[in-house]
Amino acid sequence: MSEEYSALRQAQREFDKVAEMMGLEQSYRNVLREPARTLSVNVPVRMDDGTIRTFKGYRCQHNTACGPAKGGIRYSLDVTVDEVQALATWMTWKCSLAGIPYGGGKGGIHVDVHELSAGELERLSRRFFSEIQPLVGPEKDIPAPDMNTDGRIMSWYMDTYSMNVGKTTLGVVTGKPISLGGSEGRTAATGRGVFVAAMNAMRKKGIEPRDARIVIQGFGNVGYWAAVLFHEVGCQVVGLSDYYGGVYNPKGLDPTKGKERAMSEDESVCNMLEGDRITNEELLTLDCDVLCPCALQNQLTESIAPRIKAKLISEGANGPTTPEADQILYDKGVVVIPDFLANAGGVIVSYFEWVQGLQFFFWHEKEVNAKLDEIMDRNLDRVWVLAEEKNICLRDAAYWFAIERVARATQLRGIYP
Ligand code: GLU
Repeated sequence: MSEEYSALRQAQREFDKVAEMMGLEQSYRNVLREPARTLSVNVPVRMDDGTIRTFKGYRCQHNTACGPAKGGIRYSLDVTVDEVQALATWMTWKCSLAGIPYGGGKGGIHVDVHELSAGELERLSRRFFSEIQPLVGPEKDIPAPDMNTDGRIMSWYMDTYSMNVGKTTLGVVTGKPISLGGSEGRTAATGRGVFVAAMNAMRKKGIEPRDARIVIQGFGNVGYWAAVLFHEVGCQVVGLSDYYGGVYNPKGLDPTKGKERAMSEDESVCNMLEGDRITNEELLTLDCDVLCPCALQNQLTESIAPRIKAKLISEGANGPTTPEADQILYDKGVVVIPDFLANAGGVIVSYFEWVQGLQFFFWHEKEVNAKLDEIMDRNLDRVWVLAEEKNICLRDAAYWFAIERVARATQLRGIYP
């Protein structure tokens, strides 16, 4: 793996850089930079034609110093142990920065979900969850949706665990449907967080919402909700895109008209909204105030960064900006709100869902949103102040807070035995 790209090495390089800046003691660095444990499972599934196929799956807990591990489970052909470990590491920093009582975890199955029938998907999900049961539990490790997993799959996970332990256990997963212990506001939460972070940074930069032109890459659950919220407060959403391409309209687009697209992948949002068709590259380099990359990793690259005209970037996707592009944007004075700050809305409302499930007491959407907004604002505020004080970028300042909290927890707890 030494020559190839390793997401875990990338996560560790980011950690090392800030640990060095902070002067963190070497002994703590060794503890915090490596994943604590990773379970690898071989999942047998009876297929509809009667044959048995096996799938590789993983659950990694990077660190649990601040509380049970938390993080999603993804189904994709890109899933590898390296990717899962890196994503678990990023969850540790995300939860730590958010100030919620969790460590970081992540899981995944190496599978193309489009190849499976509904029955096969259910059998795969239930058997996988049984296989990782030694690690999970409402006080140990709480999975959630991620790429290609949703509330339906979380219901199967919750039911499987509950059957295995002999009692209904709502707190073992989050991202469940509302009728099964899910939280109001969870679906929109990640997009809402991206929006709230951007609005806060706009206030700090003196950008009026009424004058703001917004561009959003990606029209899945995150991009859709961010776009709708910007539109609702009177910003001009001038560019949107999905897998099929982009659409641009300087007079503003109405993202609610593309709602069906956001919920299914059959049609492009470009055919549902009025505007000029543009390429992905044209979209990212549009003249605008705020750019929200909410699609995939490695979208803002060294070659695109010099041409980016946005004043502010709020990262909805995980890792949309390469380290080279990050430096170019910083030198150009573009404010980049890093992914693990901007897209923490999902896990923050997961935390609310878990708390509600443990108490069997559920809150109204208004209350959920108000609490989410408060945490998002507080986090950006303190990261902003530290970045100015130390003359560093927001990403490094966010890492600083995140690492400091986990290091302090580790120090207070001590090493057992
Ligand atoms: N998968 C989401 C994330 O990466 C949510 C995790 C969670 O809610 O636990 O932040």
